[in-house]
Amino acid sequence: MILIQGKGVSRGVVKGPLYFYKKPDTTVVKVEGADLDAEKSRLEEAKKKSIEQLEVLAEKAREEAGDESAILFETHAMFVEDDDFVECINDCLEGENCNAEYAVKEAGEQFAAMFAAMDDAYMQARAADIRDVSQRILNNLMGVVDGGIDSDVPVVLAADDLAPSETLQLDKSKISGFVLREGSSNGHTAILARTMGIPAICGAGAELVEAYQGRECYVDGETGQIILDPDELTLQALRDKYEKQQEMKKLMETMRGQEDVTLDGRKIKLYCNIGSPDDVAAVKSNDGQGIGLFRSEFLYLKSDDYPTEDEQFEAYKAVAAAMEGKRVIIRALDIGADKQVPYFNLQKEENPALGVRAIRICLNRPEVFRTQLRALYRASAYGKVAIMFPMITSVWEVRECKRACAAVMKELKEEGIPFNPDTEIGIMIETPASVFMASNLAKEVDFFSVGTNDLTQYTLACDRQANDLGKFFDPHHPAVLRALKMAADAAHENGIWIGICGELGADVSLLPTFLAIGIDELSVSPSSVLPLRAEIRKSIAQLCNLEKLEW
Ligand code: PEP
Ligand code: MG
Repeated sequence: MILIQGKGVSRGVVKGPLYFYKKPDTTVVKVEGADLDAEKSRLEEAKKKSIEQLEVLAEKAREEAGDESAILFETHAMFVEDDDFVECINDCLEGENCNAEYAVKEAGEQFAAMFAAMDDAYMQARAADIRDVSQRILNNLMGVVDGGIDSDVPVVLAADDLAPSETLQLDKSKISGFVLREGSSNGHTAILARTMGIPAICGAGAELVEAYQGRECYVDGETGQIILDPDELTLQALRDKYEKQQEMKKLMETMRGQEDVTLDGRKIKLYCNIGSPDDVAAVKSNDGQGIGLFRSEFLYLKSDDYPTEDEQFEAYKAVAAAMEGKRVIIRALDIGADKQVPYFNLQKEENPALGVRAIRICLNRPEVFRTQLRALYRASAYGKVAIMFPMITSVWEVRECKRACAAVMKELKEEGIPFNPDTEIGIMIETPASVFMASNLAKEVDFFSVGTNDLTQYTLACDRQANDLGKFFDPHHPAVLRALKMAADAAHENGIWIGICGELGADVSLLPTFLAIGIDELSVSPSSVLPLRAEIRKSIAQLCNLEKLEW
């Protein structure tokens, strides 16, 4: 038996073949003097494969979301065979006597630039489609697998670490578990795993060697154990745990449709954190009462270029409409630090967590911010959308955000586009500055939501990405809990509500503390809703007090 000990960051027991993730190398180099016939037939093969993939995607989109969603893929398939595009590739191949990859890249860039220079906004937006199509043909030429995993069965995905953008681009239906040599519990890949309900382990270290590729392995996302060739006793224990887990899931089903209220009548809202419209299905199946954090930046991370206003509007509208009048809090772009997006061309920083990230980028790039705000306000006509700003430290930032919102509302009004002028505005409390300024900030907004992941990082001066800080990174630290209480008192004194959308919100052991502090809402990964509800319904709020805390 081989046992590798890491840190469990997303619960559950699963098994599957170990699959070591390889970062796809898609750098295109020009090879001159290529065999033209051979390159042409490679190109034909790649185009054929691209069309087949797009047909499958169109069919899947049609089944899941109707004809309208299939159109995008059908248009992409048509573009693969577009006469002008194909002629442009062939001209480059023959004119430069080069490899197919280079010709596709050149033609793709030429066409994308041509569309981007057009006057019509709709045509400009097609530049992103062209890039997408040429990238697909390129991937097929270079043998890059769609969705990153070349396997017919779900695998246990192993890697050193995964950037959030890489995790988002993987085909989740092919992943039963994640095991990372590095990574941390509060990094966005662990957060994504929890949102998707996929067991995950990080910090597995150098013992996780590639020689294990393909071998059946068991993952226990609670204990942090990765096990190959388990002995009889261990195997039985894993099976028992798996069965218990299934029983617990069934038991939790009885919590569906129940109110989130303590035995003595204190109500607390249980919302969910999501990263994409696809996650709404899990919110619904777990009976989340709203969405407390939609990390909108994941739309940007998935994309090869700035998502257009229309693309964003469609995503926000889909979530707002699907939640049928329940609150959907969409956070403005929180890019930077570990969430790097190449096309933003962010400056390299010594300390990116303390650099130009989140609201600082929004305010520094008014056009990017305006596009997102327009999409958000347009979506507000289709459900109960609320907008939230991340990484706030000062009152002037909030005022600038509100000015940007007012300007966008004025534009939409003049254009006759519907929106909700009473859309709630909130901020994240995730810096010590925002805690100290909470009374002033509360006068500016409708709600607070505490980002405990960053608040812990900034309060304790502990990098949330590091996996070796051990007991120094302690989200239960009294300083963090005091900060929570200070923010909650300031919120309530000023008549607004306060929630928690950081990972700490799902920590059942802290529920009595949250009740004592008077937290009004907890936003957690969908799979945490029902267990948390069970705990809330067993609690007596009046008996929860802060005396036991070591203040
Ligand atoms: C947080 O910091 O707690 C939070 C919810 O935001 P993110 O994890 O995306 O930084
Ligand atoms: Mg944060």
